[in-house]
Amino acid sequence: MTDAPKLIDPFARAITYLRVSVTDRCDFRCVYCMSENMNFLPKAELLTLEELDRMCSAFISQGVRKLRITGGEPLVRRGIMDFFKSISRHLKTGDLEELTLTTNGSQLRRFADQLAAVGVKRINISLDTLDEQKFADITRWGRLAQVLDGIDAALDAGIRVKINTVALKGFNEVELEQLVEWCASRDMDLTFIEVMPMGDIGNEDRLDQYWPLSDLRTRLAKTWTLIDSDEQTGGPARYVRLEETGQKIGFITPLTHNFCESCNRVRLTCTGELYQCLGQEDQVDLRKILRENADDAVLVNAIHAAIAKKPKGHDFDYSRQAVDGQMTRHMSHTGG
Ligand code: SAM
Ligand code: SF4
Repeated sequence: MTDAPKLIDPFARAITYLRVSVTDRCDFRCVYCMSENMNFLPKAELLTLEELDRMCSAFISQGVRKLRITGGEPLVRRGIMDFFKSISRHLKTGDLEELTLTTNGSQLRRFADQLAAVGVKRINISLDTLDEQKFADITRWGRLAQVLDGIDAALDAGIRVKINTVALKGFNEVELEQLVEWCASRDMDLTFIEVMPMGDIGNEDRLDQYWPLSDLRTRLAKTWTLIDSDEQTGGPARYVRLEETGQKIGFITPLTHNFCESCNRVRLTCTGELYQCLGQEDQVDLRKILRENADDAVLVNAIHAAIAKKPKGHDFDYSRQAVDGQMTRHMSHTGG
């Protein structure tokens, strides 16, 4: 491993984690994420796979140790395995510690073995319900059986799986215990996410969907013994361990707790904008800089300049019963 220079922001936080959205497209239309008729970006706007590689490599050269590929649905991007193969060279040199992805699972039967072969050891798979009809309703275009098969393919390939579940009032509340048990039976950890105000999603009302995770935690404690874990990932998740199953349960609560003090991450959109904070509109257009300069030194300088402007935190707030701090961009653009 090389002794890479560090990206340190004005609040003394070392930036070691880059999340990259490789496409804004998806084969699902989850109701909290997209409207049914999405207008996707023209192809020329997207970073090419070669540009994505150059961009990620520049970050890795500056001390980024963990890369999470996301989207939209990263596995629907044409040629994405070529990108994974290429960028995995940084795992071999030790410059990159972890290469991972967040996926809806629909394409994993096809790609799980190849992902394992390039060194992907853990992935996050999003799944909100184990009920076939409810799954069809929430994803609009998804099929539960295909995703369950994808999860099996990942486990068979020796990849550790964490399930991400968006906690939705009146939707998956009734399945809480079942979801926990189902994950435990497959040795999978489970993280619950509070629904966040990202982008216009048509007719859905976010306040109707919002289920505070403090309620969820109280419910869990009725069935299991919760042991608080002090594990910190530099992200918004807090963890408990269930004494009875040994399983790790995470809570991503950007709205009820502030997680910003220890934030170690930045996000690159599929069009090459660098968002220093998920919950703020400030961004830097790195695509322009990359396309105009064959020399990586200019790009590296721009990355340092952007990190020097990372804000202290986000302003999401549901407390006044209106969705304050709402972001105009979709999660699928920035990368969830
Ligand atoms: N398509 C992939 C997937 O679903 O895992 C990766 C991208 S998706 C945007 C990443 C994560 O963001 C998913 O777990 C999804 O449930 C979550 N997500 C999307 N919109 C959200 C919202 N408004 N609030 C909270 N989580 C959201
Ligand atoms: Fe697609 Fe993921 Fe958004 Fe669902 S949450 S629509 S799977 S990008």
